[in-house]
Amino acid sequence: MYLGVMPKKLRIGWFSFSCCEDSTIIFTELLNDHYRQWKDKIEFCSALVLRKKSTVKDLDVAFVEGAITSRKQEEKLRQIRRESKKLVAIGACACIGMPSSQRNLFNEKTNKEIQNILIRFNYAKTVRKLSEVVNVDDFVHGCPMDENIFLATVNKYLKEFKII
Ligand code: SF4
Repeated sequence: MYLGVMPKKLRIGWFSFSCCEDSTIIFTELLNDHYRQWKDKIEFCSALVLRKKSTVKDLDVAFVEGAITSRKQEEKLRQIRRESKKLVAIGACACIGMPSSQRNLFNEKTNKEIQNILIRFNYAKTVRKLSEVVNVDDFVHGCPMDENIFLATVNKYLKEFKII
């Protein structure tokens, strides 16, 4: 029986808000290439693409894609922020709001036309980038995300948390 101390892994979560989830697809493709290298270094605590059970508790790094379009999403993002030492915005929608926030630029006439949809789905008046709701530590820009910057960010935190 092994009684030694288990090596520490980087506890990460991957979360998607309002978006097309293309960065999630890139993330899963990267997993195909890097899983062997990451499996002893990274613990995927919350990533719905990988596992049904999601634990948003005591995360080292939360990767968050998509923009915030409702009060419910805002609360969820604040919860993720409280439970994560670092929070990284993934892709343009999370980093700068666009293209998910296009409706913020609608004229008065179009805004009136979409009012019923906003009410029916409980959407907020405006769409917000992550940094308008919580503090963001890092940004992986691109639409979808730039995979090289994402990999560099993962490596940066593996070093910062003394995993490698
Ligand atoms: S940044 Fe681009 S790829 Fe990512 S969710 Fe937004 S529209 Fe989709």
